[in-house]
This record gives sequence, C-alpha cells and structure tokens, in this order.
Amino acid sequence: MQYFRRLSIIRSSFRFLSLSSSSIVNVHASTTHEELYEINKLMNNYNNSHVPIRTVALFEWMSNIINLKPDFICYTQIIRACGEINNLKLCQKIHEFIDKDQTLQSKEYYQLQIKLIYMYAKIKHIELAEEIFQQIKNRSFDINLYGTMFKGYNMNGQPEKTIRLFENEILNKKTIQLDAISATCVLSACSSSHRLDIGHNIYNEVVRLKLLEPPNIRLATAIIDMYCNCGSIDRARKLFDQLLPIADHITYSILMKAYLSINQPVQVLSLFHQLQSSSSSISPDAVLYLHVINACQQLGLPHQAENIHRAIPSFIIEKNLSVQTALINMHSHCLQVNEAYRLFSLLKQKDNHTLANLIHGFAINGQGQRALKLFEDIKLELKLNEQTYKMILYACKFTDGLVDEARKIYKIIPEKYKTPDIASIMVSILARHSLFDEVQSFIHQYKSKSTDVSSLWSALFMVCYHSGNVQYAKSIYDQIKDDPFLLLLFSDMTNSLLSNEIFNYFQQQLPGKCRTEIKNNNTMNYTVYEFHDNDLSNFPLLNSELNIIIDELKSVNINWQLTKNDLKQLFCGHISVRLAIVQNFVLNPSSTVIQLTKTKPLCSTCHEGIKHLTLIKQCDIILKDDIRIHHFHNGKCSCHDKF
Ligand SMILES: [Zn+2]
Ligand SMILES: [Zn+2]
Repeated sequence: MQYFRRLSIIRSSFRFLSLSSSSIVNVHASTTHEELYEINKLMNNYNNSHVPIRTVALFEWMSNIINLKPDFICYTQIIRACGEINNLKLCQKIHEFIDKDQTLQSKEYYQLQIKLIYMYAKIKHIELAEEIFQQIKNRSFDINLYGTMFKGYNMNGQPEKTIRLFENEILNKKTIQLDAISATCVLSACSSSHRLDIGHNIYNEVVRLKLLEPPNIRLATAIIDMYCNCGSIDRARKLFDQLLPIADHITYSILMKAYLSINQPVQVLSLFHQLQSSSSSISPDAVLYLHVINACQQLGLPHQAENIHRAIPSFIIEKNLSVQTALINMHSHCLQVNEAYRLFSLLKQKDNHTLANLIHGFAINGQGQRALKLFEDIKLELKLNEQTYKMILYACKFTDGLVDEARKIYKIIPEKYKTPDIASIMVSILARHSLFDEVQSFIHQYKSKSTDVSSLWSALFMVCYHSGNVQYAKSIYDQIKDDPFLLLLFSDMTNSLLSNEIFNYFQQQLPGKCRTEIKNNNTMNYTVYEFHDNDLSNFPLLNSELNIIIDELKSVNINWQLTKNDLKQLFCGHISVRLAIVQNFVLNPSSTVIQLTKTKPLCSTCHEGIKHLTLIKQCDIILKDDIRIHHFHNGKCSCHDKF
C-alpha cells in the first residue's frame, strides 16, 4: 500500500511539473520521437540518481495518461528501475507489457529478455529468470546471456548452479567461448564453492583466449580470489606478482586476507612493505590497515606492532572505530598492555570484545590484579558477556593467589554463561592452588547442570601434568583416556607406552612455527624471522651453533639433544624456538632482550633450557606461546614454572 501511495504522490507531482514546466520534460515537443527522447533522458537521470520509483511513475504516466508508446530504450530504463525496486508484481507487469509489444524487433526483444533475467535475479526471483533463460532458443551463441545467468545465480547464493550451467553448456559443448565478464562470474562461483578443478580450468582458458591482455584487474582479481579460497595461495601469489603494476586495493586485500586465514602474517607484512614502497601508487585504506594490524596481532611481536601503529595516519584511526579496537587487540597480544590500556581508556564506545582482549592481554602477562581492577571499574558500565567473564577468570588463573577473587567472580557469572569452557578455567584455578577436594566437589556439582564435563577433567589433568603430580593424574586416567593429546601427555609424564596410532597422528601434524624480530645493525628497524619445526636441515650454520648450546646445557643436565621417541617434541616441536633463539645470538650477540612467539605450546625441556640460557648469556627472553607469556630473566621465568 505504501508503495502505491508514494507512486500516486510522485505521479501527481510529476504531472504538475511536466505539464507546467517544459524545462523538465518537453511533452509538447512536435514529434513522438522527441517526446520519447526527453522521457528516456529523464528516466536515465532518475535511475542514475537512485530514484527508480520516479522512473516507474514516469513510465505509468506516459503509457496510461498521455498514451505514448515506449520504445526499446524506454524499456531498458524501466527494467533497470524495476530491478532496484523490490516489487514482484510491478516487475511482472512490465514483463507482460513487453511480451505483448508486437512492434519490437526480435533482436531488441532478445536484449530485453537478458535484462529481464537480470531484473528477476536482482529481486531474488531467480526461478523467473531461469524461466526466461529456458525459453530462449539458440542460446548457445551469446556469452552475454550466460554471463547474466551466472551473475544471477551468484547474486542469489547459488554458485553451484553457475558451475553446473558452465559445465553443461560451455565446457562440455565447446560451442561458445568465455569472455572476461562470464569468466569472472564462474571464477567467483568456484571461489565460494571451493571448486579448484573448474577454477583452474577457467584460468587456463583465460590464458588461451588472452583475456588478460591487456591486463584486466577485475578478472585477475577474480582468479586470485578463486585460488586463495580454494587453498592454492602459491598460484594466487604468482599471478599477483605478474600483475603487480595494476594491482589495486581489492587485490591486495584478498591476498592479505588469504595469508591471514592460513596464519602467515609475515607475508601480509611483506605485502604491506611492498605497498609502501615508492613504486606503488596505492595509499592503504582502513581495510588494508586492518589486515596489517591483524597480521601483527598474529605475530605477537612488539616492535612490529609499534611500527604499524606509527604508520597509520591519525585521521584513519580517528575516523574508524574498528581500527581503534583492532589496535587495542593488537597491542594486547603483542606484550604492549600499557599502550592497549591507554587506547582503551580513550575509546568512546567500549565493547565486550575489546575489553575481553585487553583483559586477555593482562592475563597472559600475569597481571591479574590489573585485570581485576579494570573488571571492577567497568562491570557497571557495560553488560558483560561470556567472553569477558571467561577472560577475567583466565586472568585469575595466570596470577598466583587470586583464588578467592575467582570464586567471587564465578558466583556472579549468570548461569547461562557458566559453560564447560568457563567452568574448566575455575577447575584450573582451584587445582593450581592444590585444592583438589574442592575441585572434586565442583565437578560433581557441575555434573548436575551439564553432562559435558570432559573439558573440566582435561583442565584438571593439565595442572597435574605441569606440576608433575603423577599420582593424581593416574587417578583420573579414566576421565581423559578419550583425548589423544592428553594421552600423549600422560605417556610422557608416566613413561608409559603410547600407541603407534596416536604417535603417528601427532607426527603428521603441521609443523609449528616460531617468529622473532631482530634489530638490524645500527638502525632502529627490526626484521622478522620465521622458523618451522622441520627446518633443522635448512639452516646448517644455525644448527652447528645450536650444537654448541646443546653441549652447554648438557653440563647442567638439560637434554636438548633430539631423540627418536621424544614425546614432548610431538606437541612442542622444539626446533623452531631453538633455531629462533640461536639466530638472535648469531645476528645480535650483544642483545639484552630476545622476543619470540611460538605457535605450539612450550614443553618443560625447552622451558628449562631457556631459563638457563638467560643466566649464561645475560639476556632476557620473552616468549609468547599459544597459552601465555613467559618472561625469562636471570635463570627464572615469570610463570614460576606454572604453565
Ligand atoms: Zn620443547
Ligand atoms: Zn615460564
């Protein structure tokens, strides 16, 4: 009803305007041709100005009031307007009107059918678009028709239909060749359906048909996007490098996002540095900065975080709340909690996600008291969610002596948020304080609320493992025997046999990584180095330096020599972190602080070795693993050996 009311208002105002002012539309022009020309021009203006309802009003007025017959161009304008207005009846009315027009030439009618297909796709009635498509005879000669249908399916979230149509009518029949637009559409469908086979086939066709000559950035971006989403990022990168001179924001953004999704932040930073180089004409926007900030967050290295923060123009930070919160999250994860806290205090709109990240920053740094103070200050200002409650308990877990505070917080957590995840942190806190009776009754009580208590037992076992409480660990064996990771740890702590199946399972896991940033000689710049747990043979020089360290550690009964059945190596990896440390000693022997981030959890053998290295090398080592931050200083660690 509202639509018709608006239509009627516009029509009456239009009638008044058009009849009284010849400067808007000259309906008194001497010929029908001139009248139509004026009307089509006006419709085009309305469509370009995003007021399609006026085009519709004008169409109704000309066909009903002044009885002027629309021509082909007029139809294209009204179809375009209908595609913008989500009104099926109106679209069908125009469709019927066109179908009844016997004066249209067959070529014109065919062109209008393609436009009607697009119109129905746009208003999400793809079945009506399909109907028209099926009615068209001899359709295997026009790639434009297929391009429209592909676009329609993609717009309606049916990429698999795009691929099927391409396979059935183009790939198999081979009567028609792709053009840049249709190839872009099928590539986009392959990207969302992860069909590398078809996507790669199209890329070969694009090369054969020379569709990238001259360079076509939209098509190239579609290929890169397809390879990224189909897990073939190396191919995407190769094409990106070839097309570098024409790469734009979107191309960079797609590639950066893909690297972030597979945890390769170093590649994101190198793309960013490439972008900053003098040869690039692109100035990064907020979206690209967000990718780079996220990359720094993944890296967890403070100097990289500082550099990126400094590189972002202040107007971009001030204008974008998402950039501000991303910076807080980044600094929280990069050992810069003071900076994160400063930015958080300035934030006009505080939210749970950012708060939780900041509390997490305090937690992994062992600054539980600061986290609690922040929590107390803000709990009346913000309606806290599950994530924030989880992080505040996490903060109590990593700082000794906060068991009373944790109990109080757990009490005020709304019942709906007392998930197994949150309850298991509570178990950890109690167990770390050796309150095993309380742990047992806590788990017993929790069982009455939820049948899923496996994560609570896991948390309890992890504390036993790290504190070497073999007896207690054995007593809860039945509760953990379904978890391969816990069984691995159990075998490690009790020197018992591990099944070949589990051993092989962990051996086949992707190698872990360790990253470090090392100051370049005589400059303030830091270079990021990344090592993998299967990298030993790739760095012969570092390997021989590592052997010297292994000998030094042997003298204090710490065994860093690799052995075949070392169970700790299965979860820690050992190699990447050790190579990263040696790289620091080699490149910067006078360094007083080494920064490391490790993607897998640290084992106690590496932990003991690093403690000793800080003593003999008189150098602090700050290591962030996937659980917390260890600040090694003078033979000790800030975690007090509680992981
Ligand atoms: Zn290790
Ligand atoms: Zn530690």
